[in-house]
Amino acid sequence: MNSYSVTDSIQRAKELVSELGNTLGRVPTAAVITFGCQMNARDSEKLTGILIQAGFSIVEEESADFVIYNTCTVRDNANQRVYGRLGVCGGFKKKNPHMKIALCGCMMQEPSVIEKIKKSYRFVDLIFGTHNLYKFPEYLVSVLEQDGMIIDVWDKPDQIEEDLPVARKYSFKSGVNIMFGCNNFCTYCIVPYVRGRERSREPKEIIRECERLASEGVVEVMLLGQNVNSYGRGLENPISFPELLKEIEKIEGIKRIRFMTSHPKDLSDELIEVVKNSDKICKHIHLPLQSGSSKILKAMNRCYDKEKYLALAKKIREEIPDASITTDIIIGFPGETPEDVDETIDVIRQVEYDNAFTFIYSKRTGTPAAAMENQVPEEESHVQFDRVLAEVQKYAKKQSSRFEGRVMEALVEEVNENDPSLVTGRLSNNIIVHFPGDESLIGKFVNVKLNECKGFYYLGEIQ
Ligand code: SF4
Repeated sequence: MNSYSVTDSIQRAKELVSELGNTLGRVPTAAVITFGCQMNARDSEKLTGILIQAGFSIVEEESADFVIYNTCTVRDNANQRVYGRLGVCGGFKKKNPHMKIALCGCMMQEPSVIEKIKKSYRFVDLIFGTHNLYKFPEYLVSVLEQDGMIIDVWDKPDQIEEDLPVARKYSFKSGVNIMFGCNNFCTYCIVPYVRGRERSREPKEIIRECERLASEGVVEVMLLGQNVNSYGRGLENPISFPELLKEIEKIEGIKRIRFMTSHPKDLSDELIEVVKNSDKICKHIHLPLQSGSSKILKAMNRCYDKEKYLALAKKIREEIPDASITTDIIIGFPGETPEDVDETIDVIRQVEYDNAFTFIYSKRTGTPAAAMENQVPEEESHVQFDRVLAEVQKYAKKQSSRFEGRVMEALVEEVNENDPSLVTGRLSNNIIVHFPGDESLIGKFVNVKLNECKGFYYLGEIQ
């Protein structure tokens, strides 16, 4: 396959899409279906940007003329969902033979998945992985010029591509990748195998992107990385994550800065200080615990124990009392006993999380944990999962209600989908509040009185 620049490929794709439009007698449509995390959501904004520049009109339907699935493989059910959708999409293609179907994202980095698709989903036209998204314009040209399955999955990235076309989901907020990949190799996690080694973007590129976003009316940025606390390692002139935050704070127009995901082993006192003293950095820290048992944390290769984690969470609570602390918890890791889960519940009771994402361990082929003995029976995991969930919800309700009666600043995100007389806003600490208003408020900051806490969200009124 010849290699062309992004611009040249998009130009050629434009010609091909317009030819297709003449054949169809209408503008060809495209759909981008996203699975998984915010990193994937950001990648899908780039895929959408490229398809729009090529002349497609973007739709939601998976019966579109061009459909691309941006996949996730963090748990097995994510893979099963993709196969399910592919089956349906194959049915659409039977009725619409010129339709093109593509797959990208983390799941495509697994060789066994490629073999399964080649064997059972032969109607797929394009497969590429996480390291070569910037080649999508070239693949688009090849797919529109020829029939047959094109597969191009790389073991590792060759560069960090800047300035790809982007079509943002929101006009007022945007994700910003600050780094890619992960070096931590937690034993249950497939990410380091599908997203590659950690590599940070140059600070000047990140700042340039945030300045451009601000000039386009974006007021909130979400800095994205698998482990933002190790940002800068490997750069020729490394700066730390707190230093990067301070640079982004200086950008006129950016009013709020969020970041995800932190790793407890690397979260520094300097970062707590910078968040505490900032008017722009949001008071929400997502701090995955995974397990409260030091024995299990060791087997997970998390590089911290229960005591270190508790000391860190306690410090955040003391230094930034209004901050929300949320977390991720895995139940059913190989070798886990009910006593280990007691340890996890003890951490939940001590930290009193504002919210938590709890998951049952999912065996990922190729990870060390998948080969471990003492795999926990599914039914046992469900029993322990329910215990943990009950504790999480109890404290989340208690924590959320501590702001009742206060007036706090909310960024209005959308009209409430259930009640159009209300709008939905998000506080700095990530709590949601619904209050009377209309779409003219979207993207604006308003002060809201938090009248009533409804468990994980508030009802309020503009002050
Ligand atoms: S830090 Fe651990 S859990 Fe997070 S992406 Fe890296 S390997 Fe996976």
